[in-house]
Amino acid sequence: MNARTTSITDIPHYVSGAHFAGTSSRSQTVTNPATGAVTGNVPQANAADVNIAVAAAQAAFPAWADTPPIRRARVMFKFLELVNQHKDDLARMITAEHGKVFTDAQGEVSRGIDIIEFACGIPQLLKGDFTDQVSTGMDNWTLRQPLGVVAGITPFNFPVMVPMWMFPVAIAAGNTFVLKPSPIDPSPSLFIGELLKQAGLPDGVFNVVQGDKEAVDALLVHPDVKAISFVGSTPIANYIYETGAHHGKRVQALGGAKNHMVVMPDADLDQAVDALIGAAYGSAGERCMAISVAVLVGDVAERIMPKLIERTKALKVLNGTNLAAEMGPIVTAAAHQRITGYIEAGAKEGAQLLVDGRGFDGAQAGEGCKGGFWLGGTLFDHVTTDMKIYKEEIFGPVLGCVRVPDFAQAVQIINDHEFGNGVSCFTRDGNVAREFARRIQVGMVGINVPIPVPMAWHGFGGWKKSLFGDMHAYGEEGVRFYTKQKSIMQRWPESIGKGAEFVMPTAK
Ligand code: NAD
Repeated sequence: MNARTTSITDIPHYVSGAHFAGTSSRSQTVTNPATGAVTGNVPQANAADVNIAVAAAQAAFPAWADTPPIRRARVMFKFLELVNQHKDDLARMITAEHGKVFTDAQGEVSRGIDIIEFACGIPQLLKGDFTDQVSTGMDNWTLRQPLGVVAGITPFNFPVMVPMWMFPVAIAAGNTFVLKPSPIDPSPSLFIGELLKQAGLPDGVFNVVQGDKEAVDALLVHPDVKAISFVGSTPIANYIYETGAHHGKRVQALGGAKNHMVVMPDADLDQAVDALIGAAYGSAGERCMAISVAVLVGDVAERIMPKLIERTKALKVLNGTNLAAEMGPIVTAAAHQRITGYIEAGAKEGAQLLVDGRGFDGAQAGEGCKGGFWLGGTLFDHVTTDMKIYKEEIFGPVLGCVRVPDFAQAVQIINDHEFGNGVSCFTRDGNVAREFARRIQVGMVGINVPIPVPMAWHGFGGWKKSLFGDMHAYGEEGVRFYTKQKSIMQRWPESIGKGAEFVMPTAK
């Protein structure tokens, strides 16, 4: 996997509506994972660069917060139109830096668009509550006001959709935003900034600082940053939550996952196989909602395994630009090494390695792909709950099958796992489905749905170590996260009695 070099683009920060080179001397290369070629160079912001971006956002806040919600919504409507026009441009950028197949990248942009559509409804979402006559001659109402400058720190695996879980709602609600995207695939964030400007967003309302831990740490301690939304791995989510909260910020920090799919003996096995193959190997398993564990109940294992082996071997692993591709490359050489390490560990621990993706040769993925970070689909059977490949998030195209005797055991192992992001159950039995949905200790549940990512108006969030903080991303919880409630009580002189009151005021 030798890195080849073609023309290299400088990918700057985006501050006050313009590209900004920053003052840091540190930078990182950006690579096309399909070929291994270095395609870009992205700066790693220092604290001074972050301070400049936050100052721009702080300066833009008062006027933007005062802009009527309907006018903020109109900017979102225009942005929506532009993103729809440039959907394929964004998808191409994703494939070039992340590696996921083009059609999957289009799907990612579509799920981001859903949130922009939701944010267009902000006037309705910000409507407060009003009670007439809480006491004689007195009314009480609540309203929600924006927080100020808020920041989003996002992972490599959805460079368009995950930022769109955050900024459309935050900005529509009247906040200003600083995005710190993953340095692995930073280009879409700049294009998003340009589209927002074209849509009429005032300069400074949306800013991008490129970088790593140094930039994140500067955001975490900055007194003008009022809230942090984070999506990424669990150890970093935990760190962001603790540090942000310590510095007085609101924090929602979404972490890693180990998502199980239960297949009951009455399930349609062909449907279950389709679901497992798509959800385990789509996007090379680099989705926080990917299924990485199949929980096979009763005699399902014997019946399903030949089909799973055949389908895993038949996966079309190709350059993501090829429209026939079902799975693209692994995002980086380091991730490739981590995943192959897990495959080795699983085999050593005694799981049965039925399909080994390590033999896949990049040359099979298309012209120029020999130097990319390639791996085929990998399938393990007889995985047990004490194994490292069961306990830890692999975040690659590796599906482990666990055999359990009955439904109760399936629920038990899932509830005992430290992660609780997504889960699925395939069955034809309504009562089993109902019991599963009620008893399972996981935030997002699919009944015959392998990847139950909630729609824009429902909100996204896992349980246990998959989410630190109490509010989910987007939906009405997103609006609550990015606003603070104010309660106002009002009366006029005609309703005010004479004399000072020394007892606790009560309704009269
Ligand atoms: P990551 O945790 O390595 O990085 C996420 C962000 O944190 C990036 O912007 C990165 O630059 C920054 N970061 C990395 N190390 C840091 C440090 N030491 N201090 C401060 N900031 C740091 O995650 P990733 O590899 O980019 O993404 C994959 C992970 O994200 C997986 O664990 C996946 O499950 C998770 N994920 C979760 C969800 C969810 O909704 N729960 C969604 C997508 C991805």
